[in-house]
Amino acid sequence: MNIILLGPPGAGKGTQAGRLVEKRDMIQLSTGDMLRAAKTSGTEMGKKVAEVMDRGELVTDEIVIGLIREQLEGDKKGGFIFDGFPRTLAQADALAALLEDCGETLDAVIEMQVDDEVLVDRIVNRAKEAVAAGGTARADDNEESLKVRLMAYYKQTSPLIGYYHAKGNLTAIDGLASMDEVEASISAILG
Ligand code: ADP
Repeated sequence: MNIILLGPPGAGKGTQAGRLVEKRDMIQLSTGDMLRAAKTSGTEMGKKVAEVMDRGELVTDEIVIGLIREQLEGDKKGGFIFDGFPRTLAQADALAALLEDCGETLDAVIEMQVDDEVLVDRIVNRAKEAVAAGGTARADDNEESLKVRLMAYYKQTSPLIGYYHAKGNLTAIDGLASMDEVEASISAILG
C-alpha cells in the first residue's frame, strides 16, 4: 500500500508517518528530511538547496523527483508513505509515472486539514522545544520563512487537492484532532 500525506507545514504529517512506520512497517519518504540530510552532508546539491529551503521556498522539481526515484528502487516493505511529496502538479505527474514504472499503485491520498493560526503556534512551539532540548531549531522554523512556506503551500501544493479529488483517491481528515484521533482516522481509511 502506497499513500500520500498532504497538508500544510505543521499539519502533523511527520508525526503520523512515524506511527505508520511503526505499526505497518511502511517506509516514510520525507523529501524535507532527505533535503535536510543533503544540506548537512555538504554535497553540491546540498549547497544548492540550502538557501532556498531556509527562505521557505520550494527546491526544483528535478531535484526532489531524483531523490524519490532513488528510494523507489529499494525494498518496498509495507509500502511507501510520501510525506511532503508531491508538492507541485509536476511532481504529482512524475510520481504517477514512477509508480507505474515499478508496477506500484497509489492507494490513498490523505489531506490533513488544519487552521493557519494553529500552524503558526505549532511551528513556533516546535522551534522552542528543539532549543529547550539543547538542540537548534530548523533554519526555516521562523515566522518569516513560515509565511513563505504557507504561501508556497497555497499557490503550488493546494492544487493537488483538486488533482487527487478528480483522480478519486482523496480523503480529507481533521488534523486538529488529537494525535491518537488523527491516527485512528488514517487507520480507518487504510483499513
Ligand atoms: P514543512 O512541511 O514543515 O514545510 P518539510 O520538511 O516537508 O517541511 O520541507 C522543508 C523544506 O524542504 C520546504 O520548505 C522546501 O524548501 C523543501 N522541500 C521539501 N519537500 C519538497 C518538495 N517535494 N518539493 C520542493 N521542495 C521541497
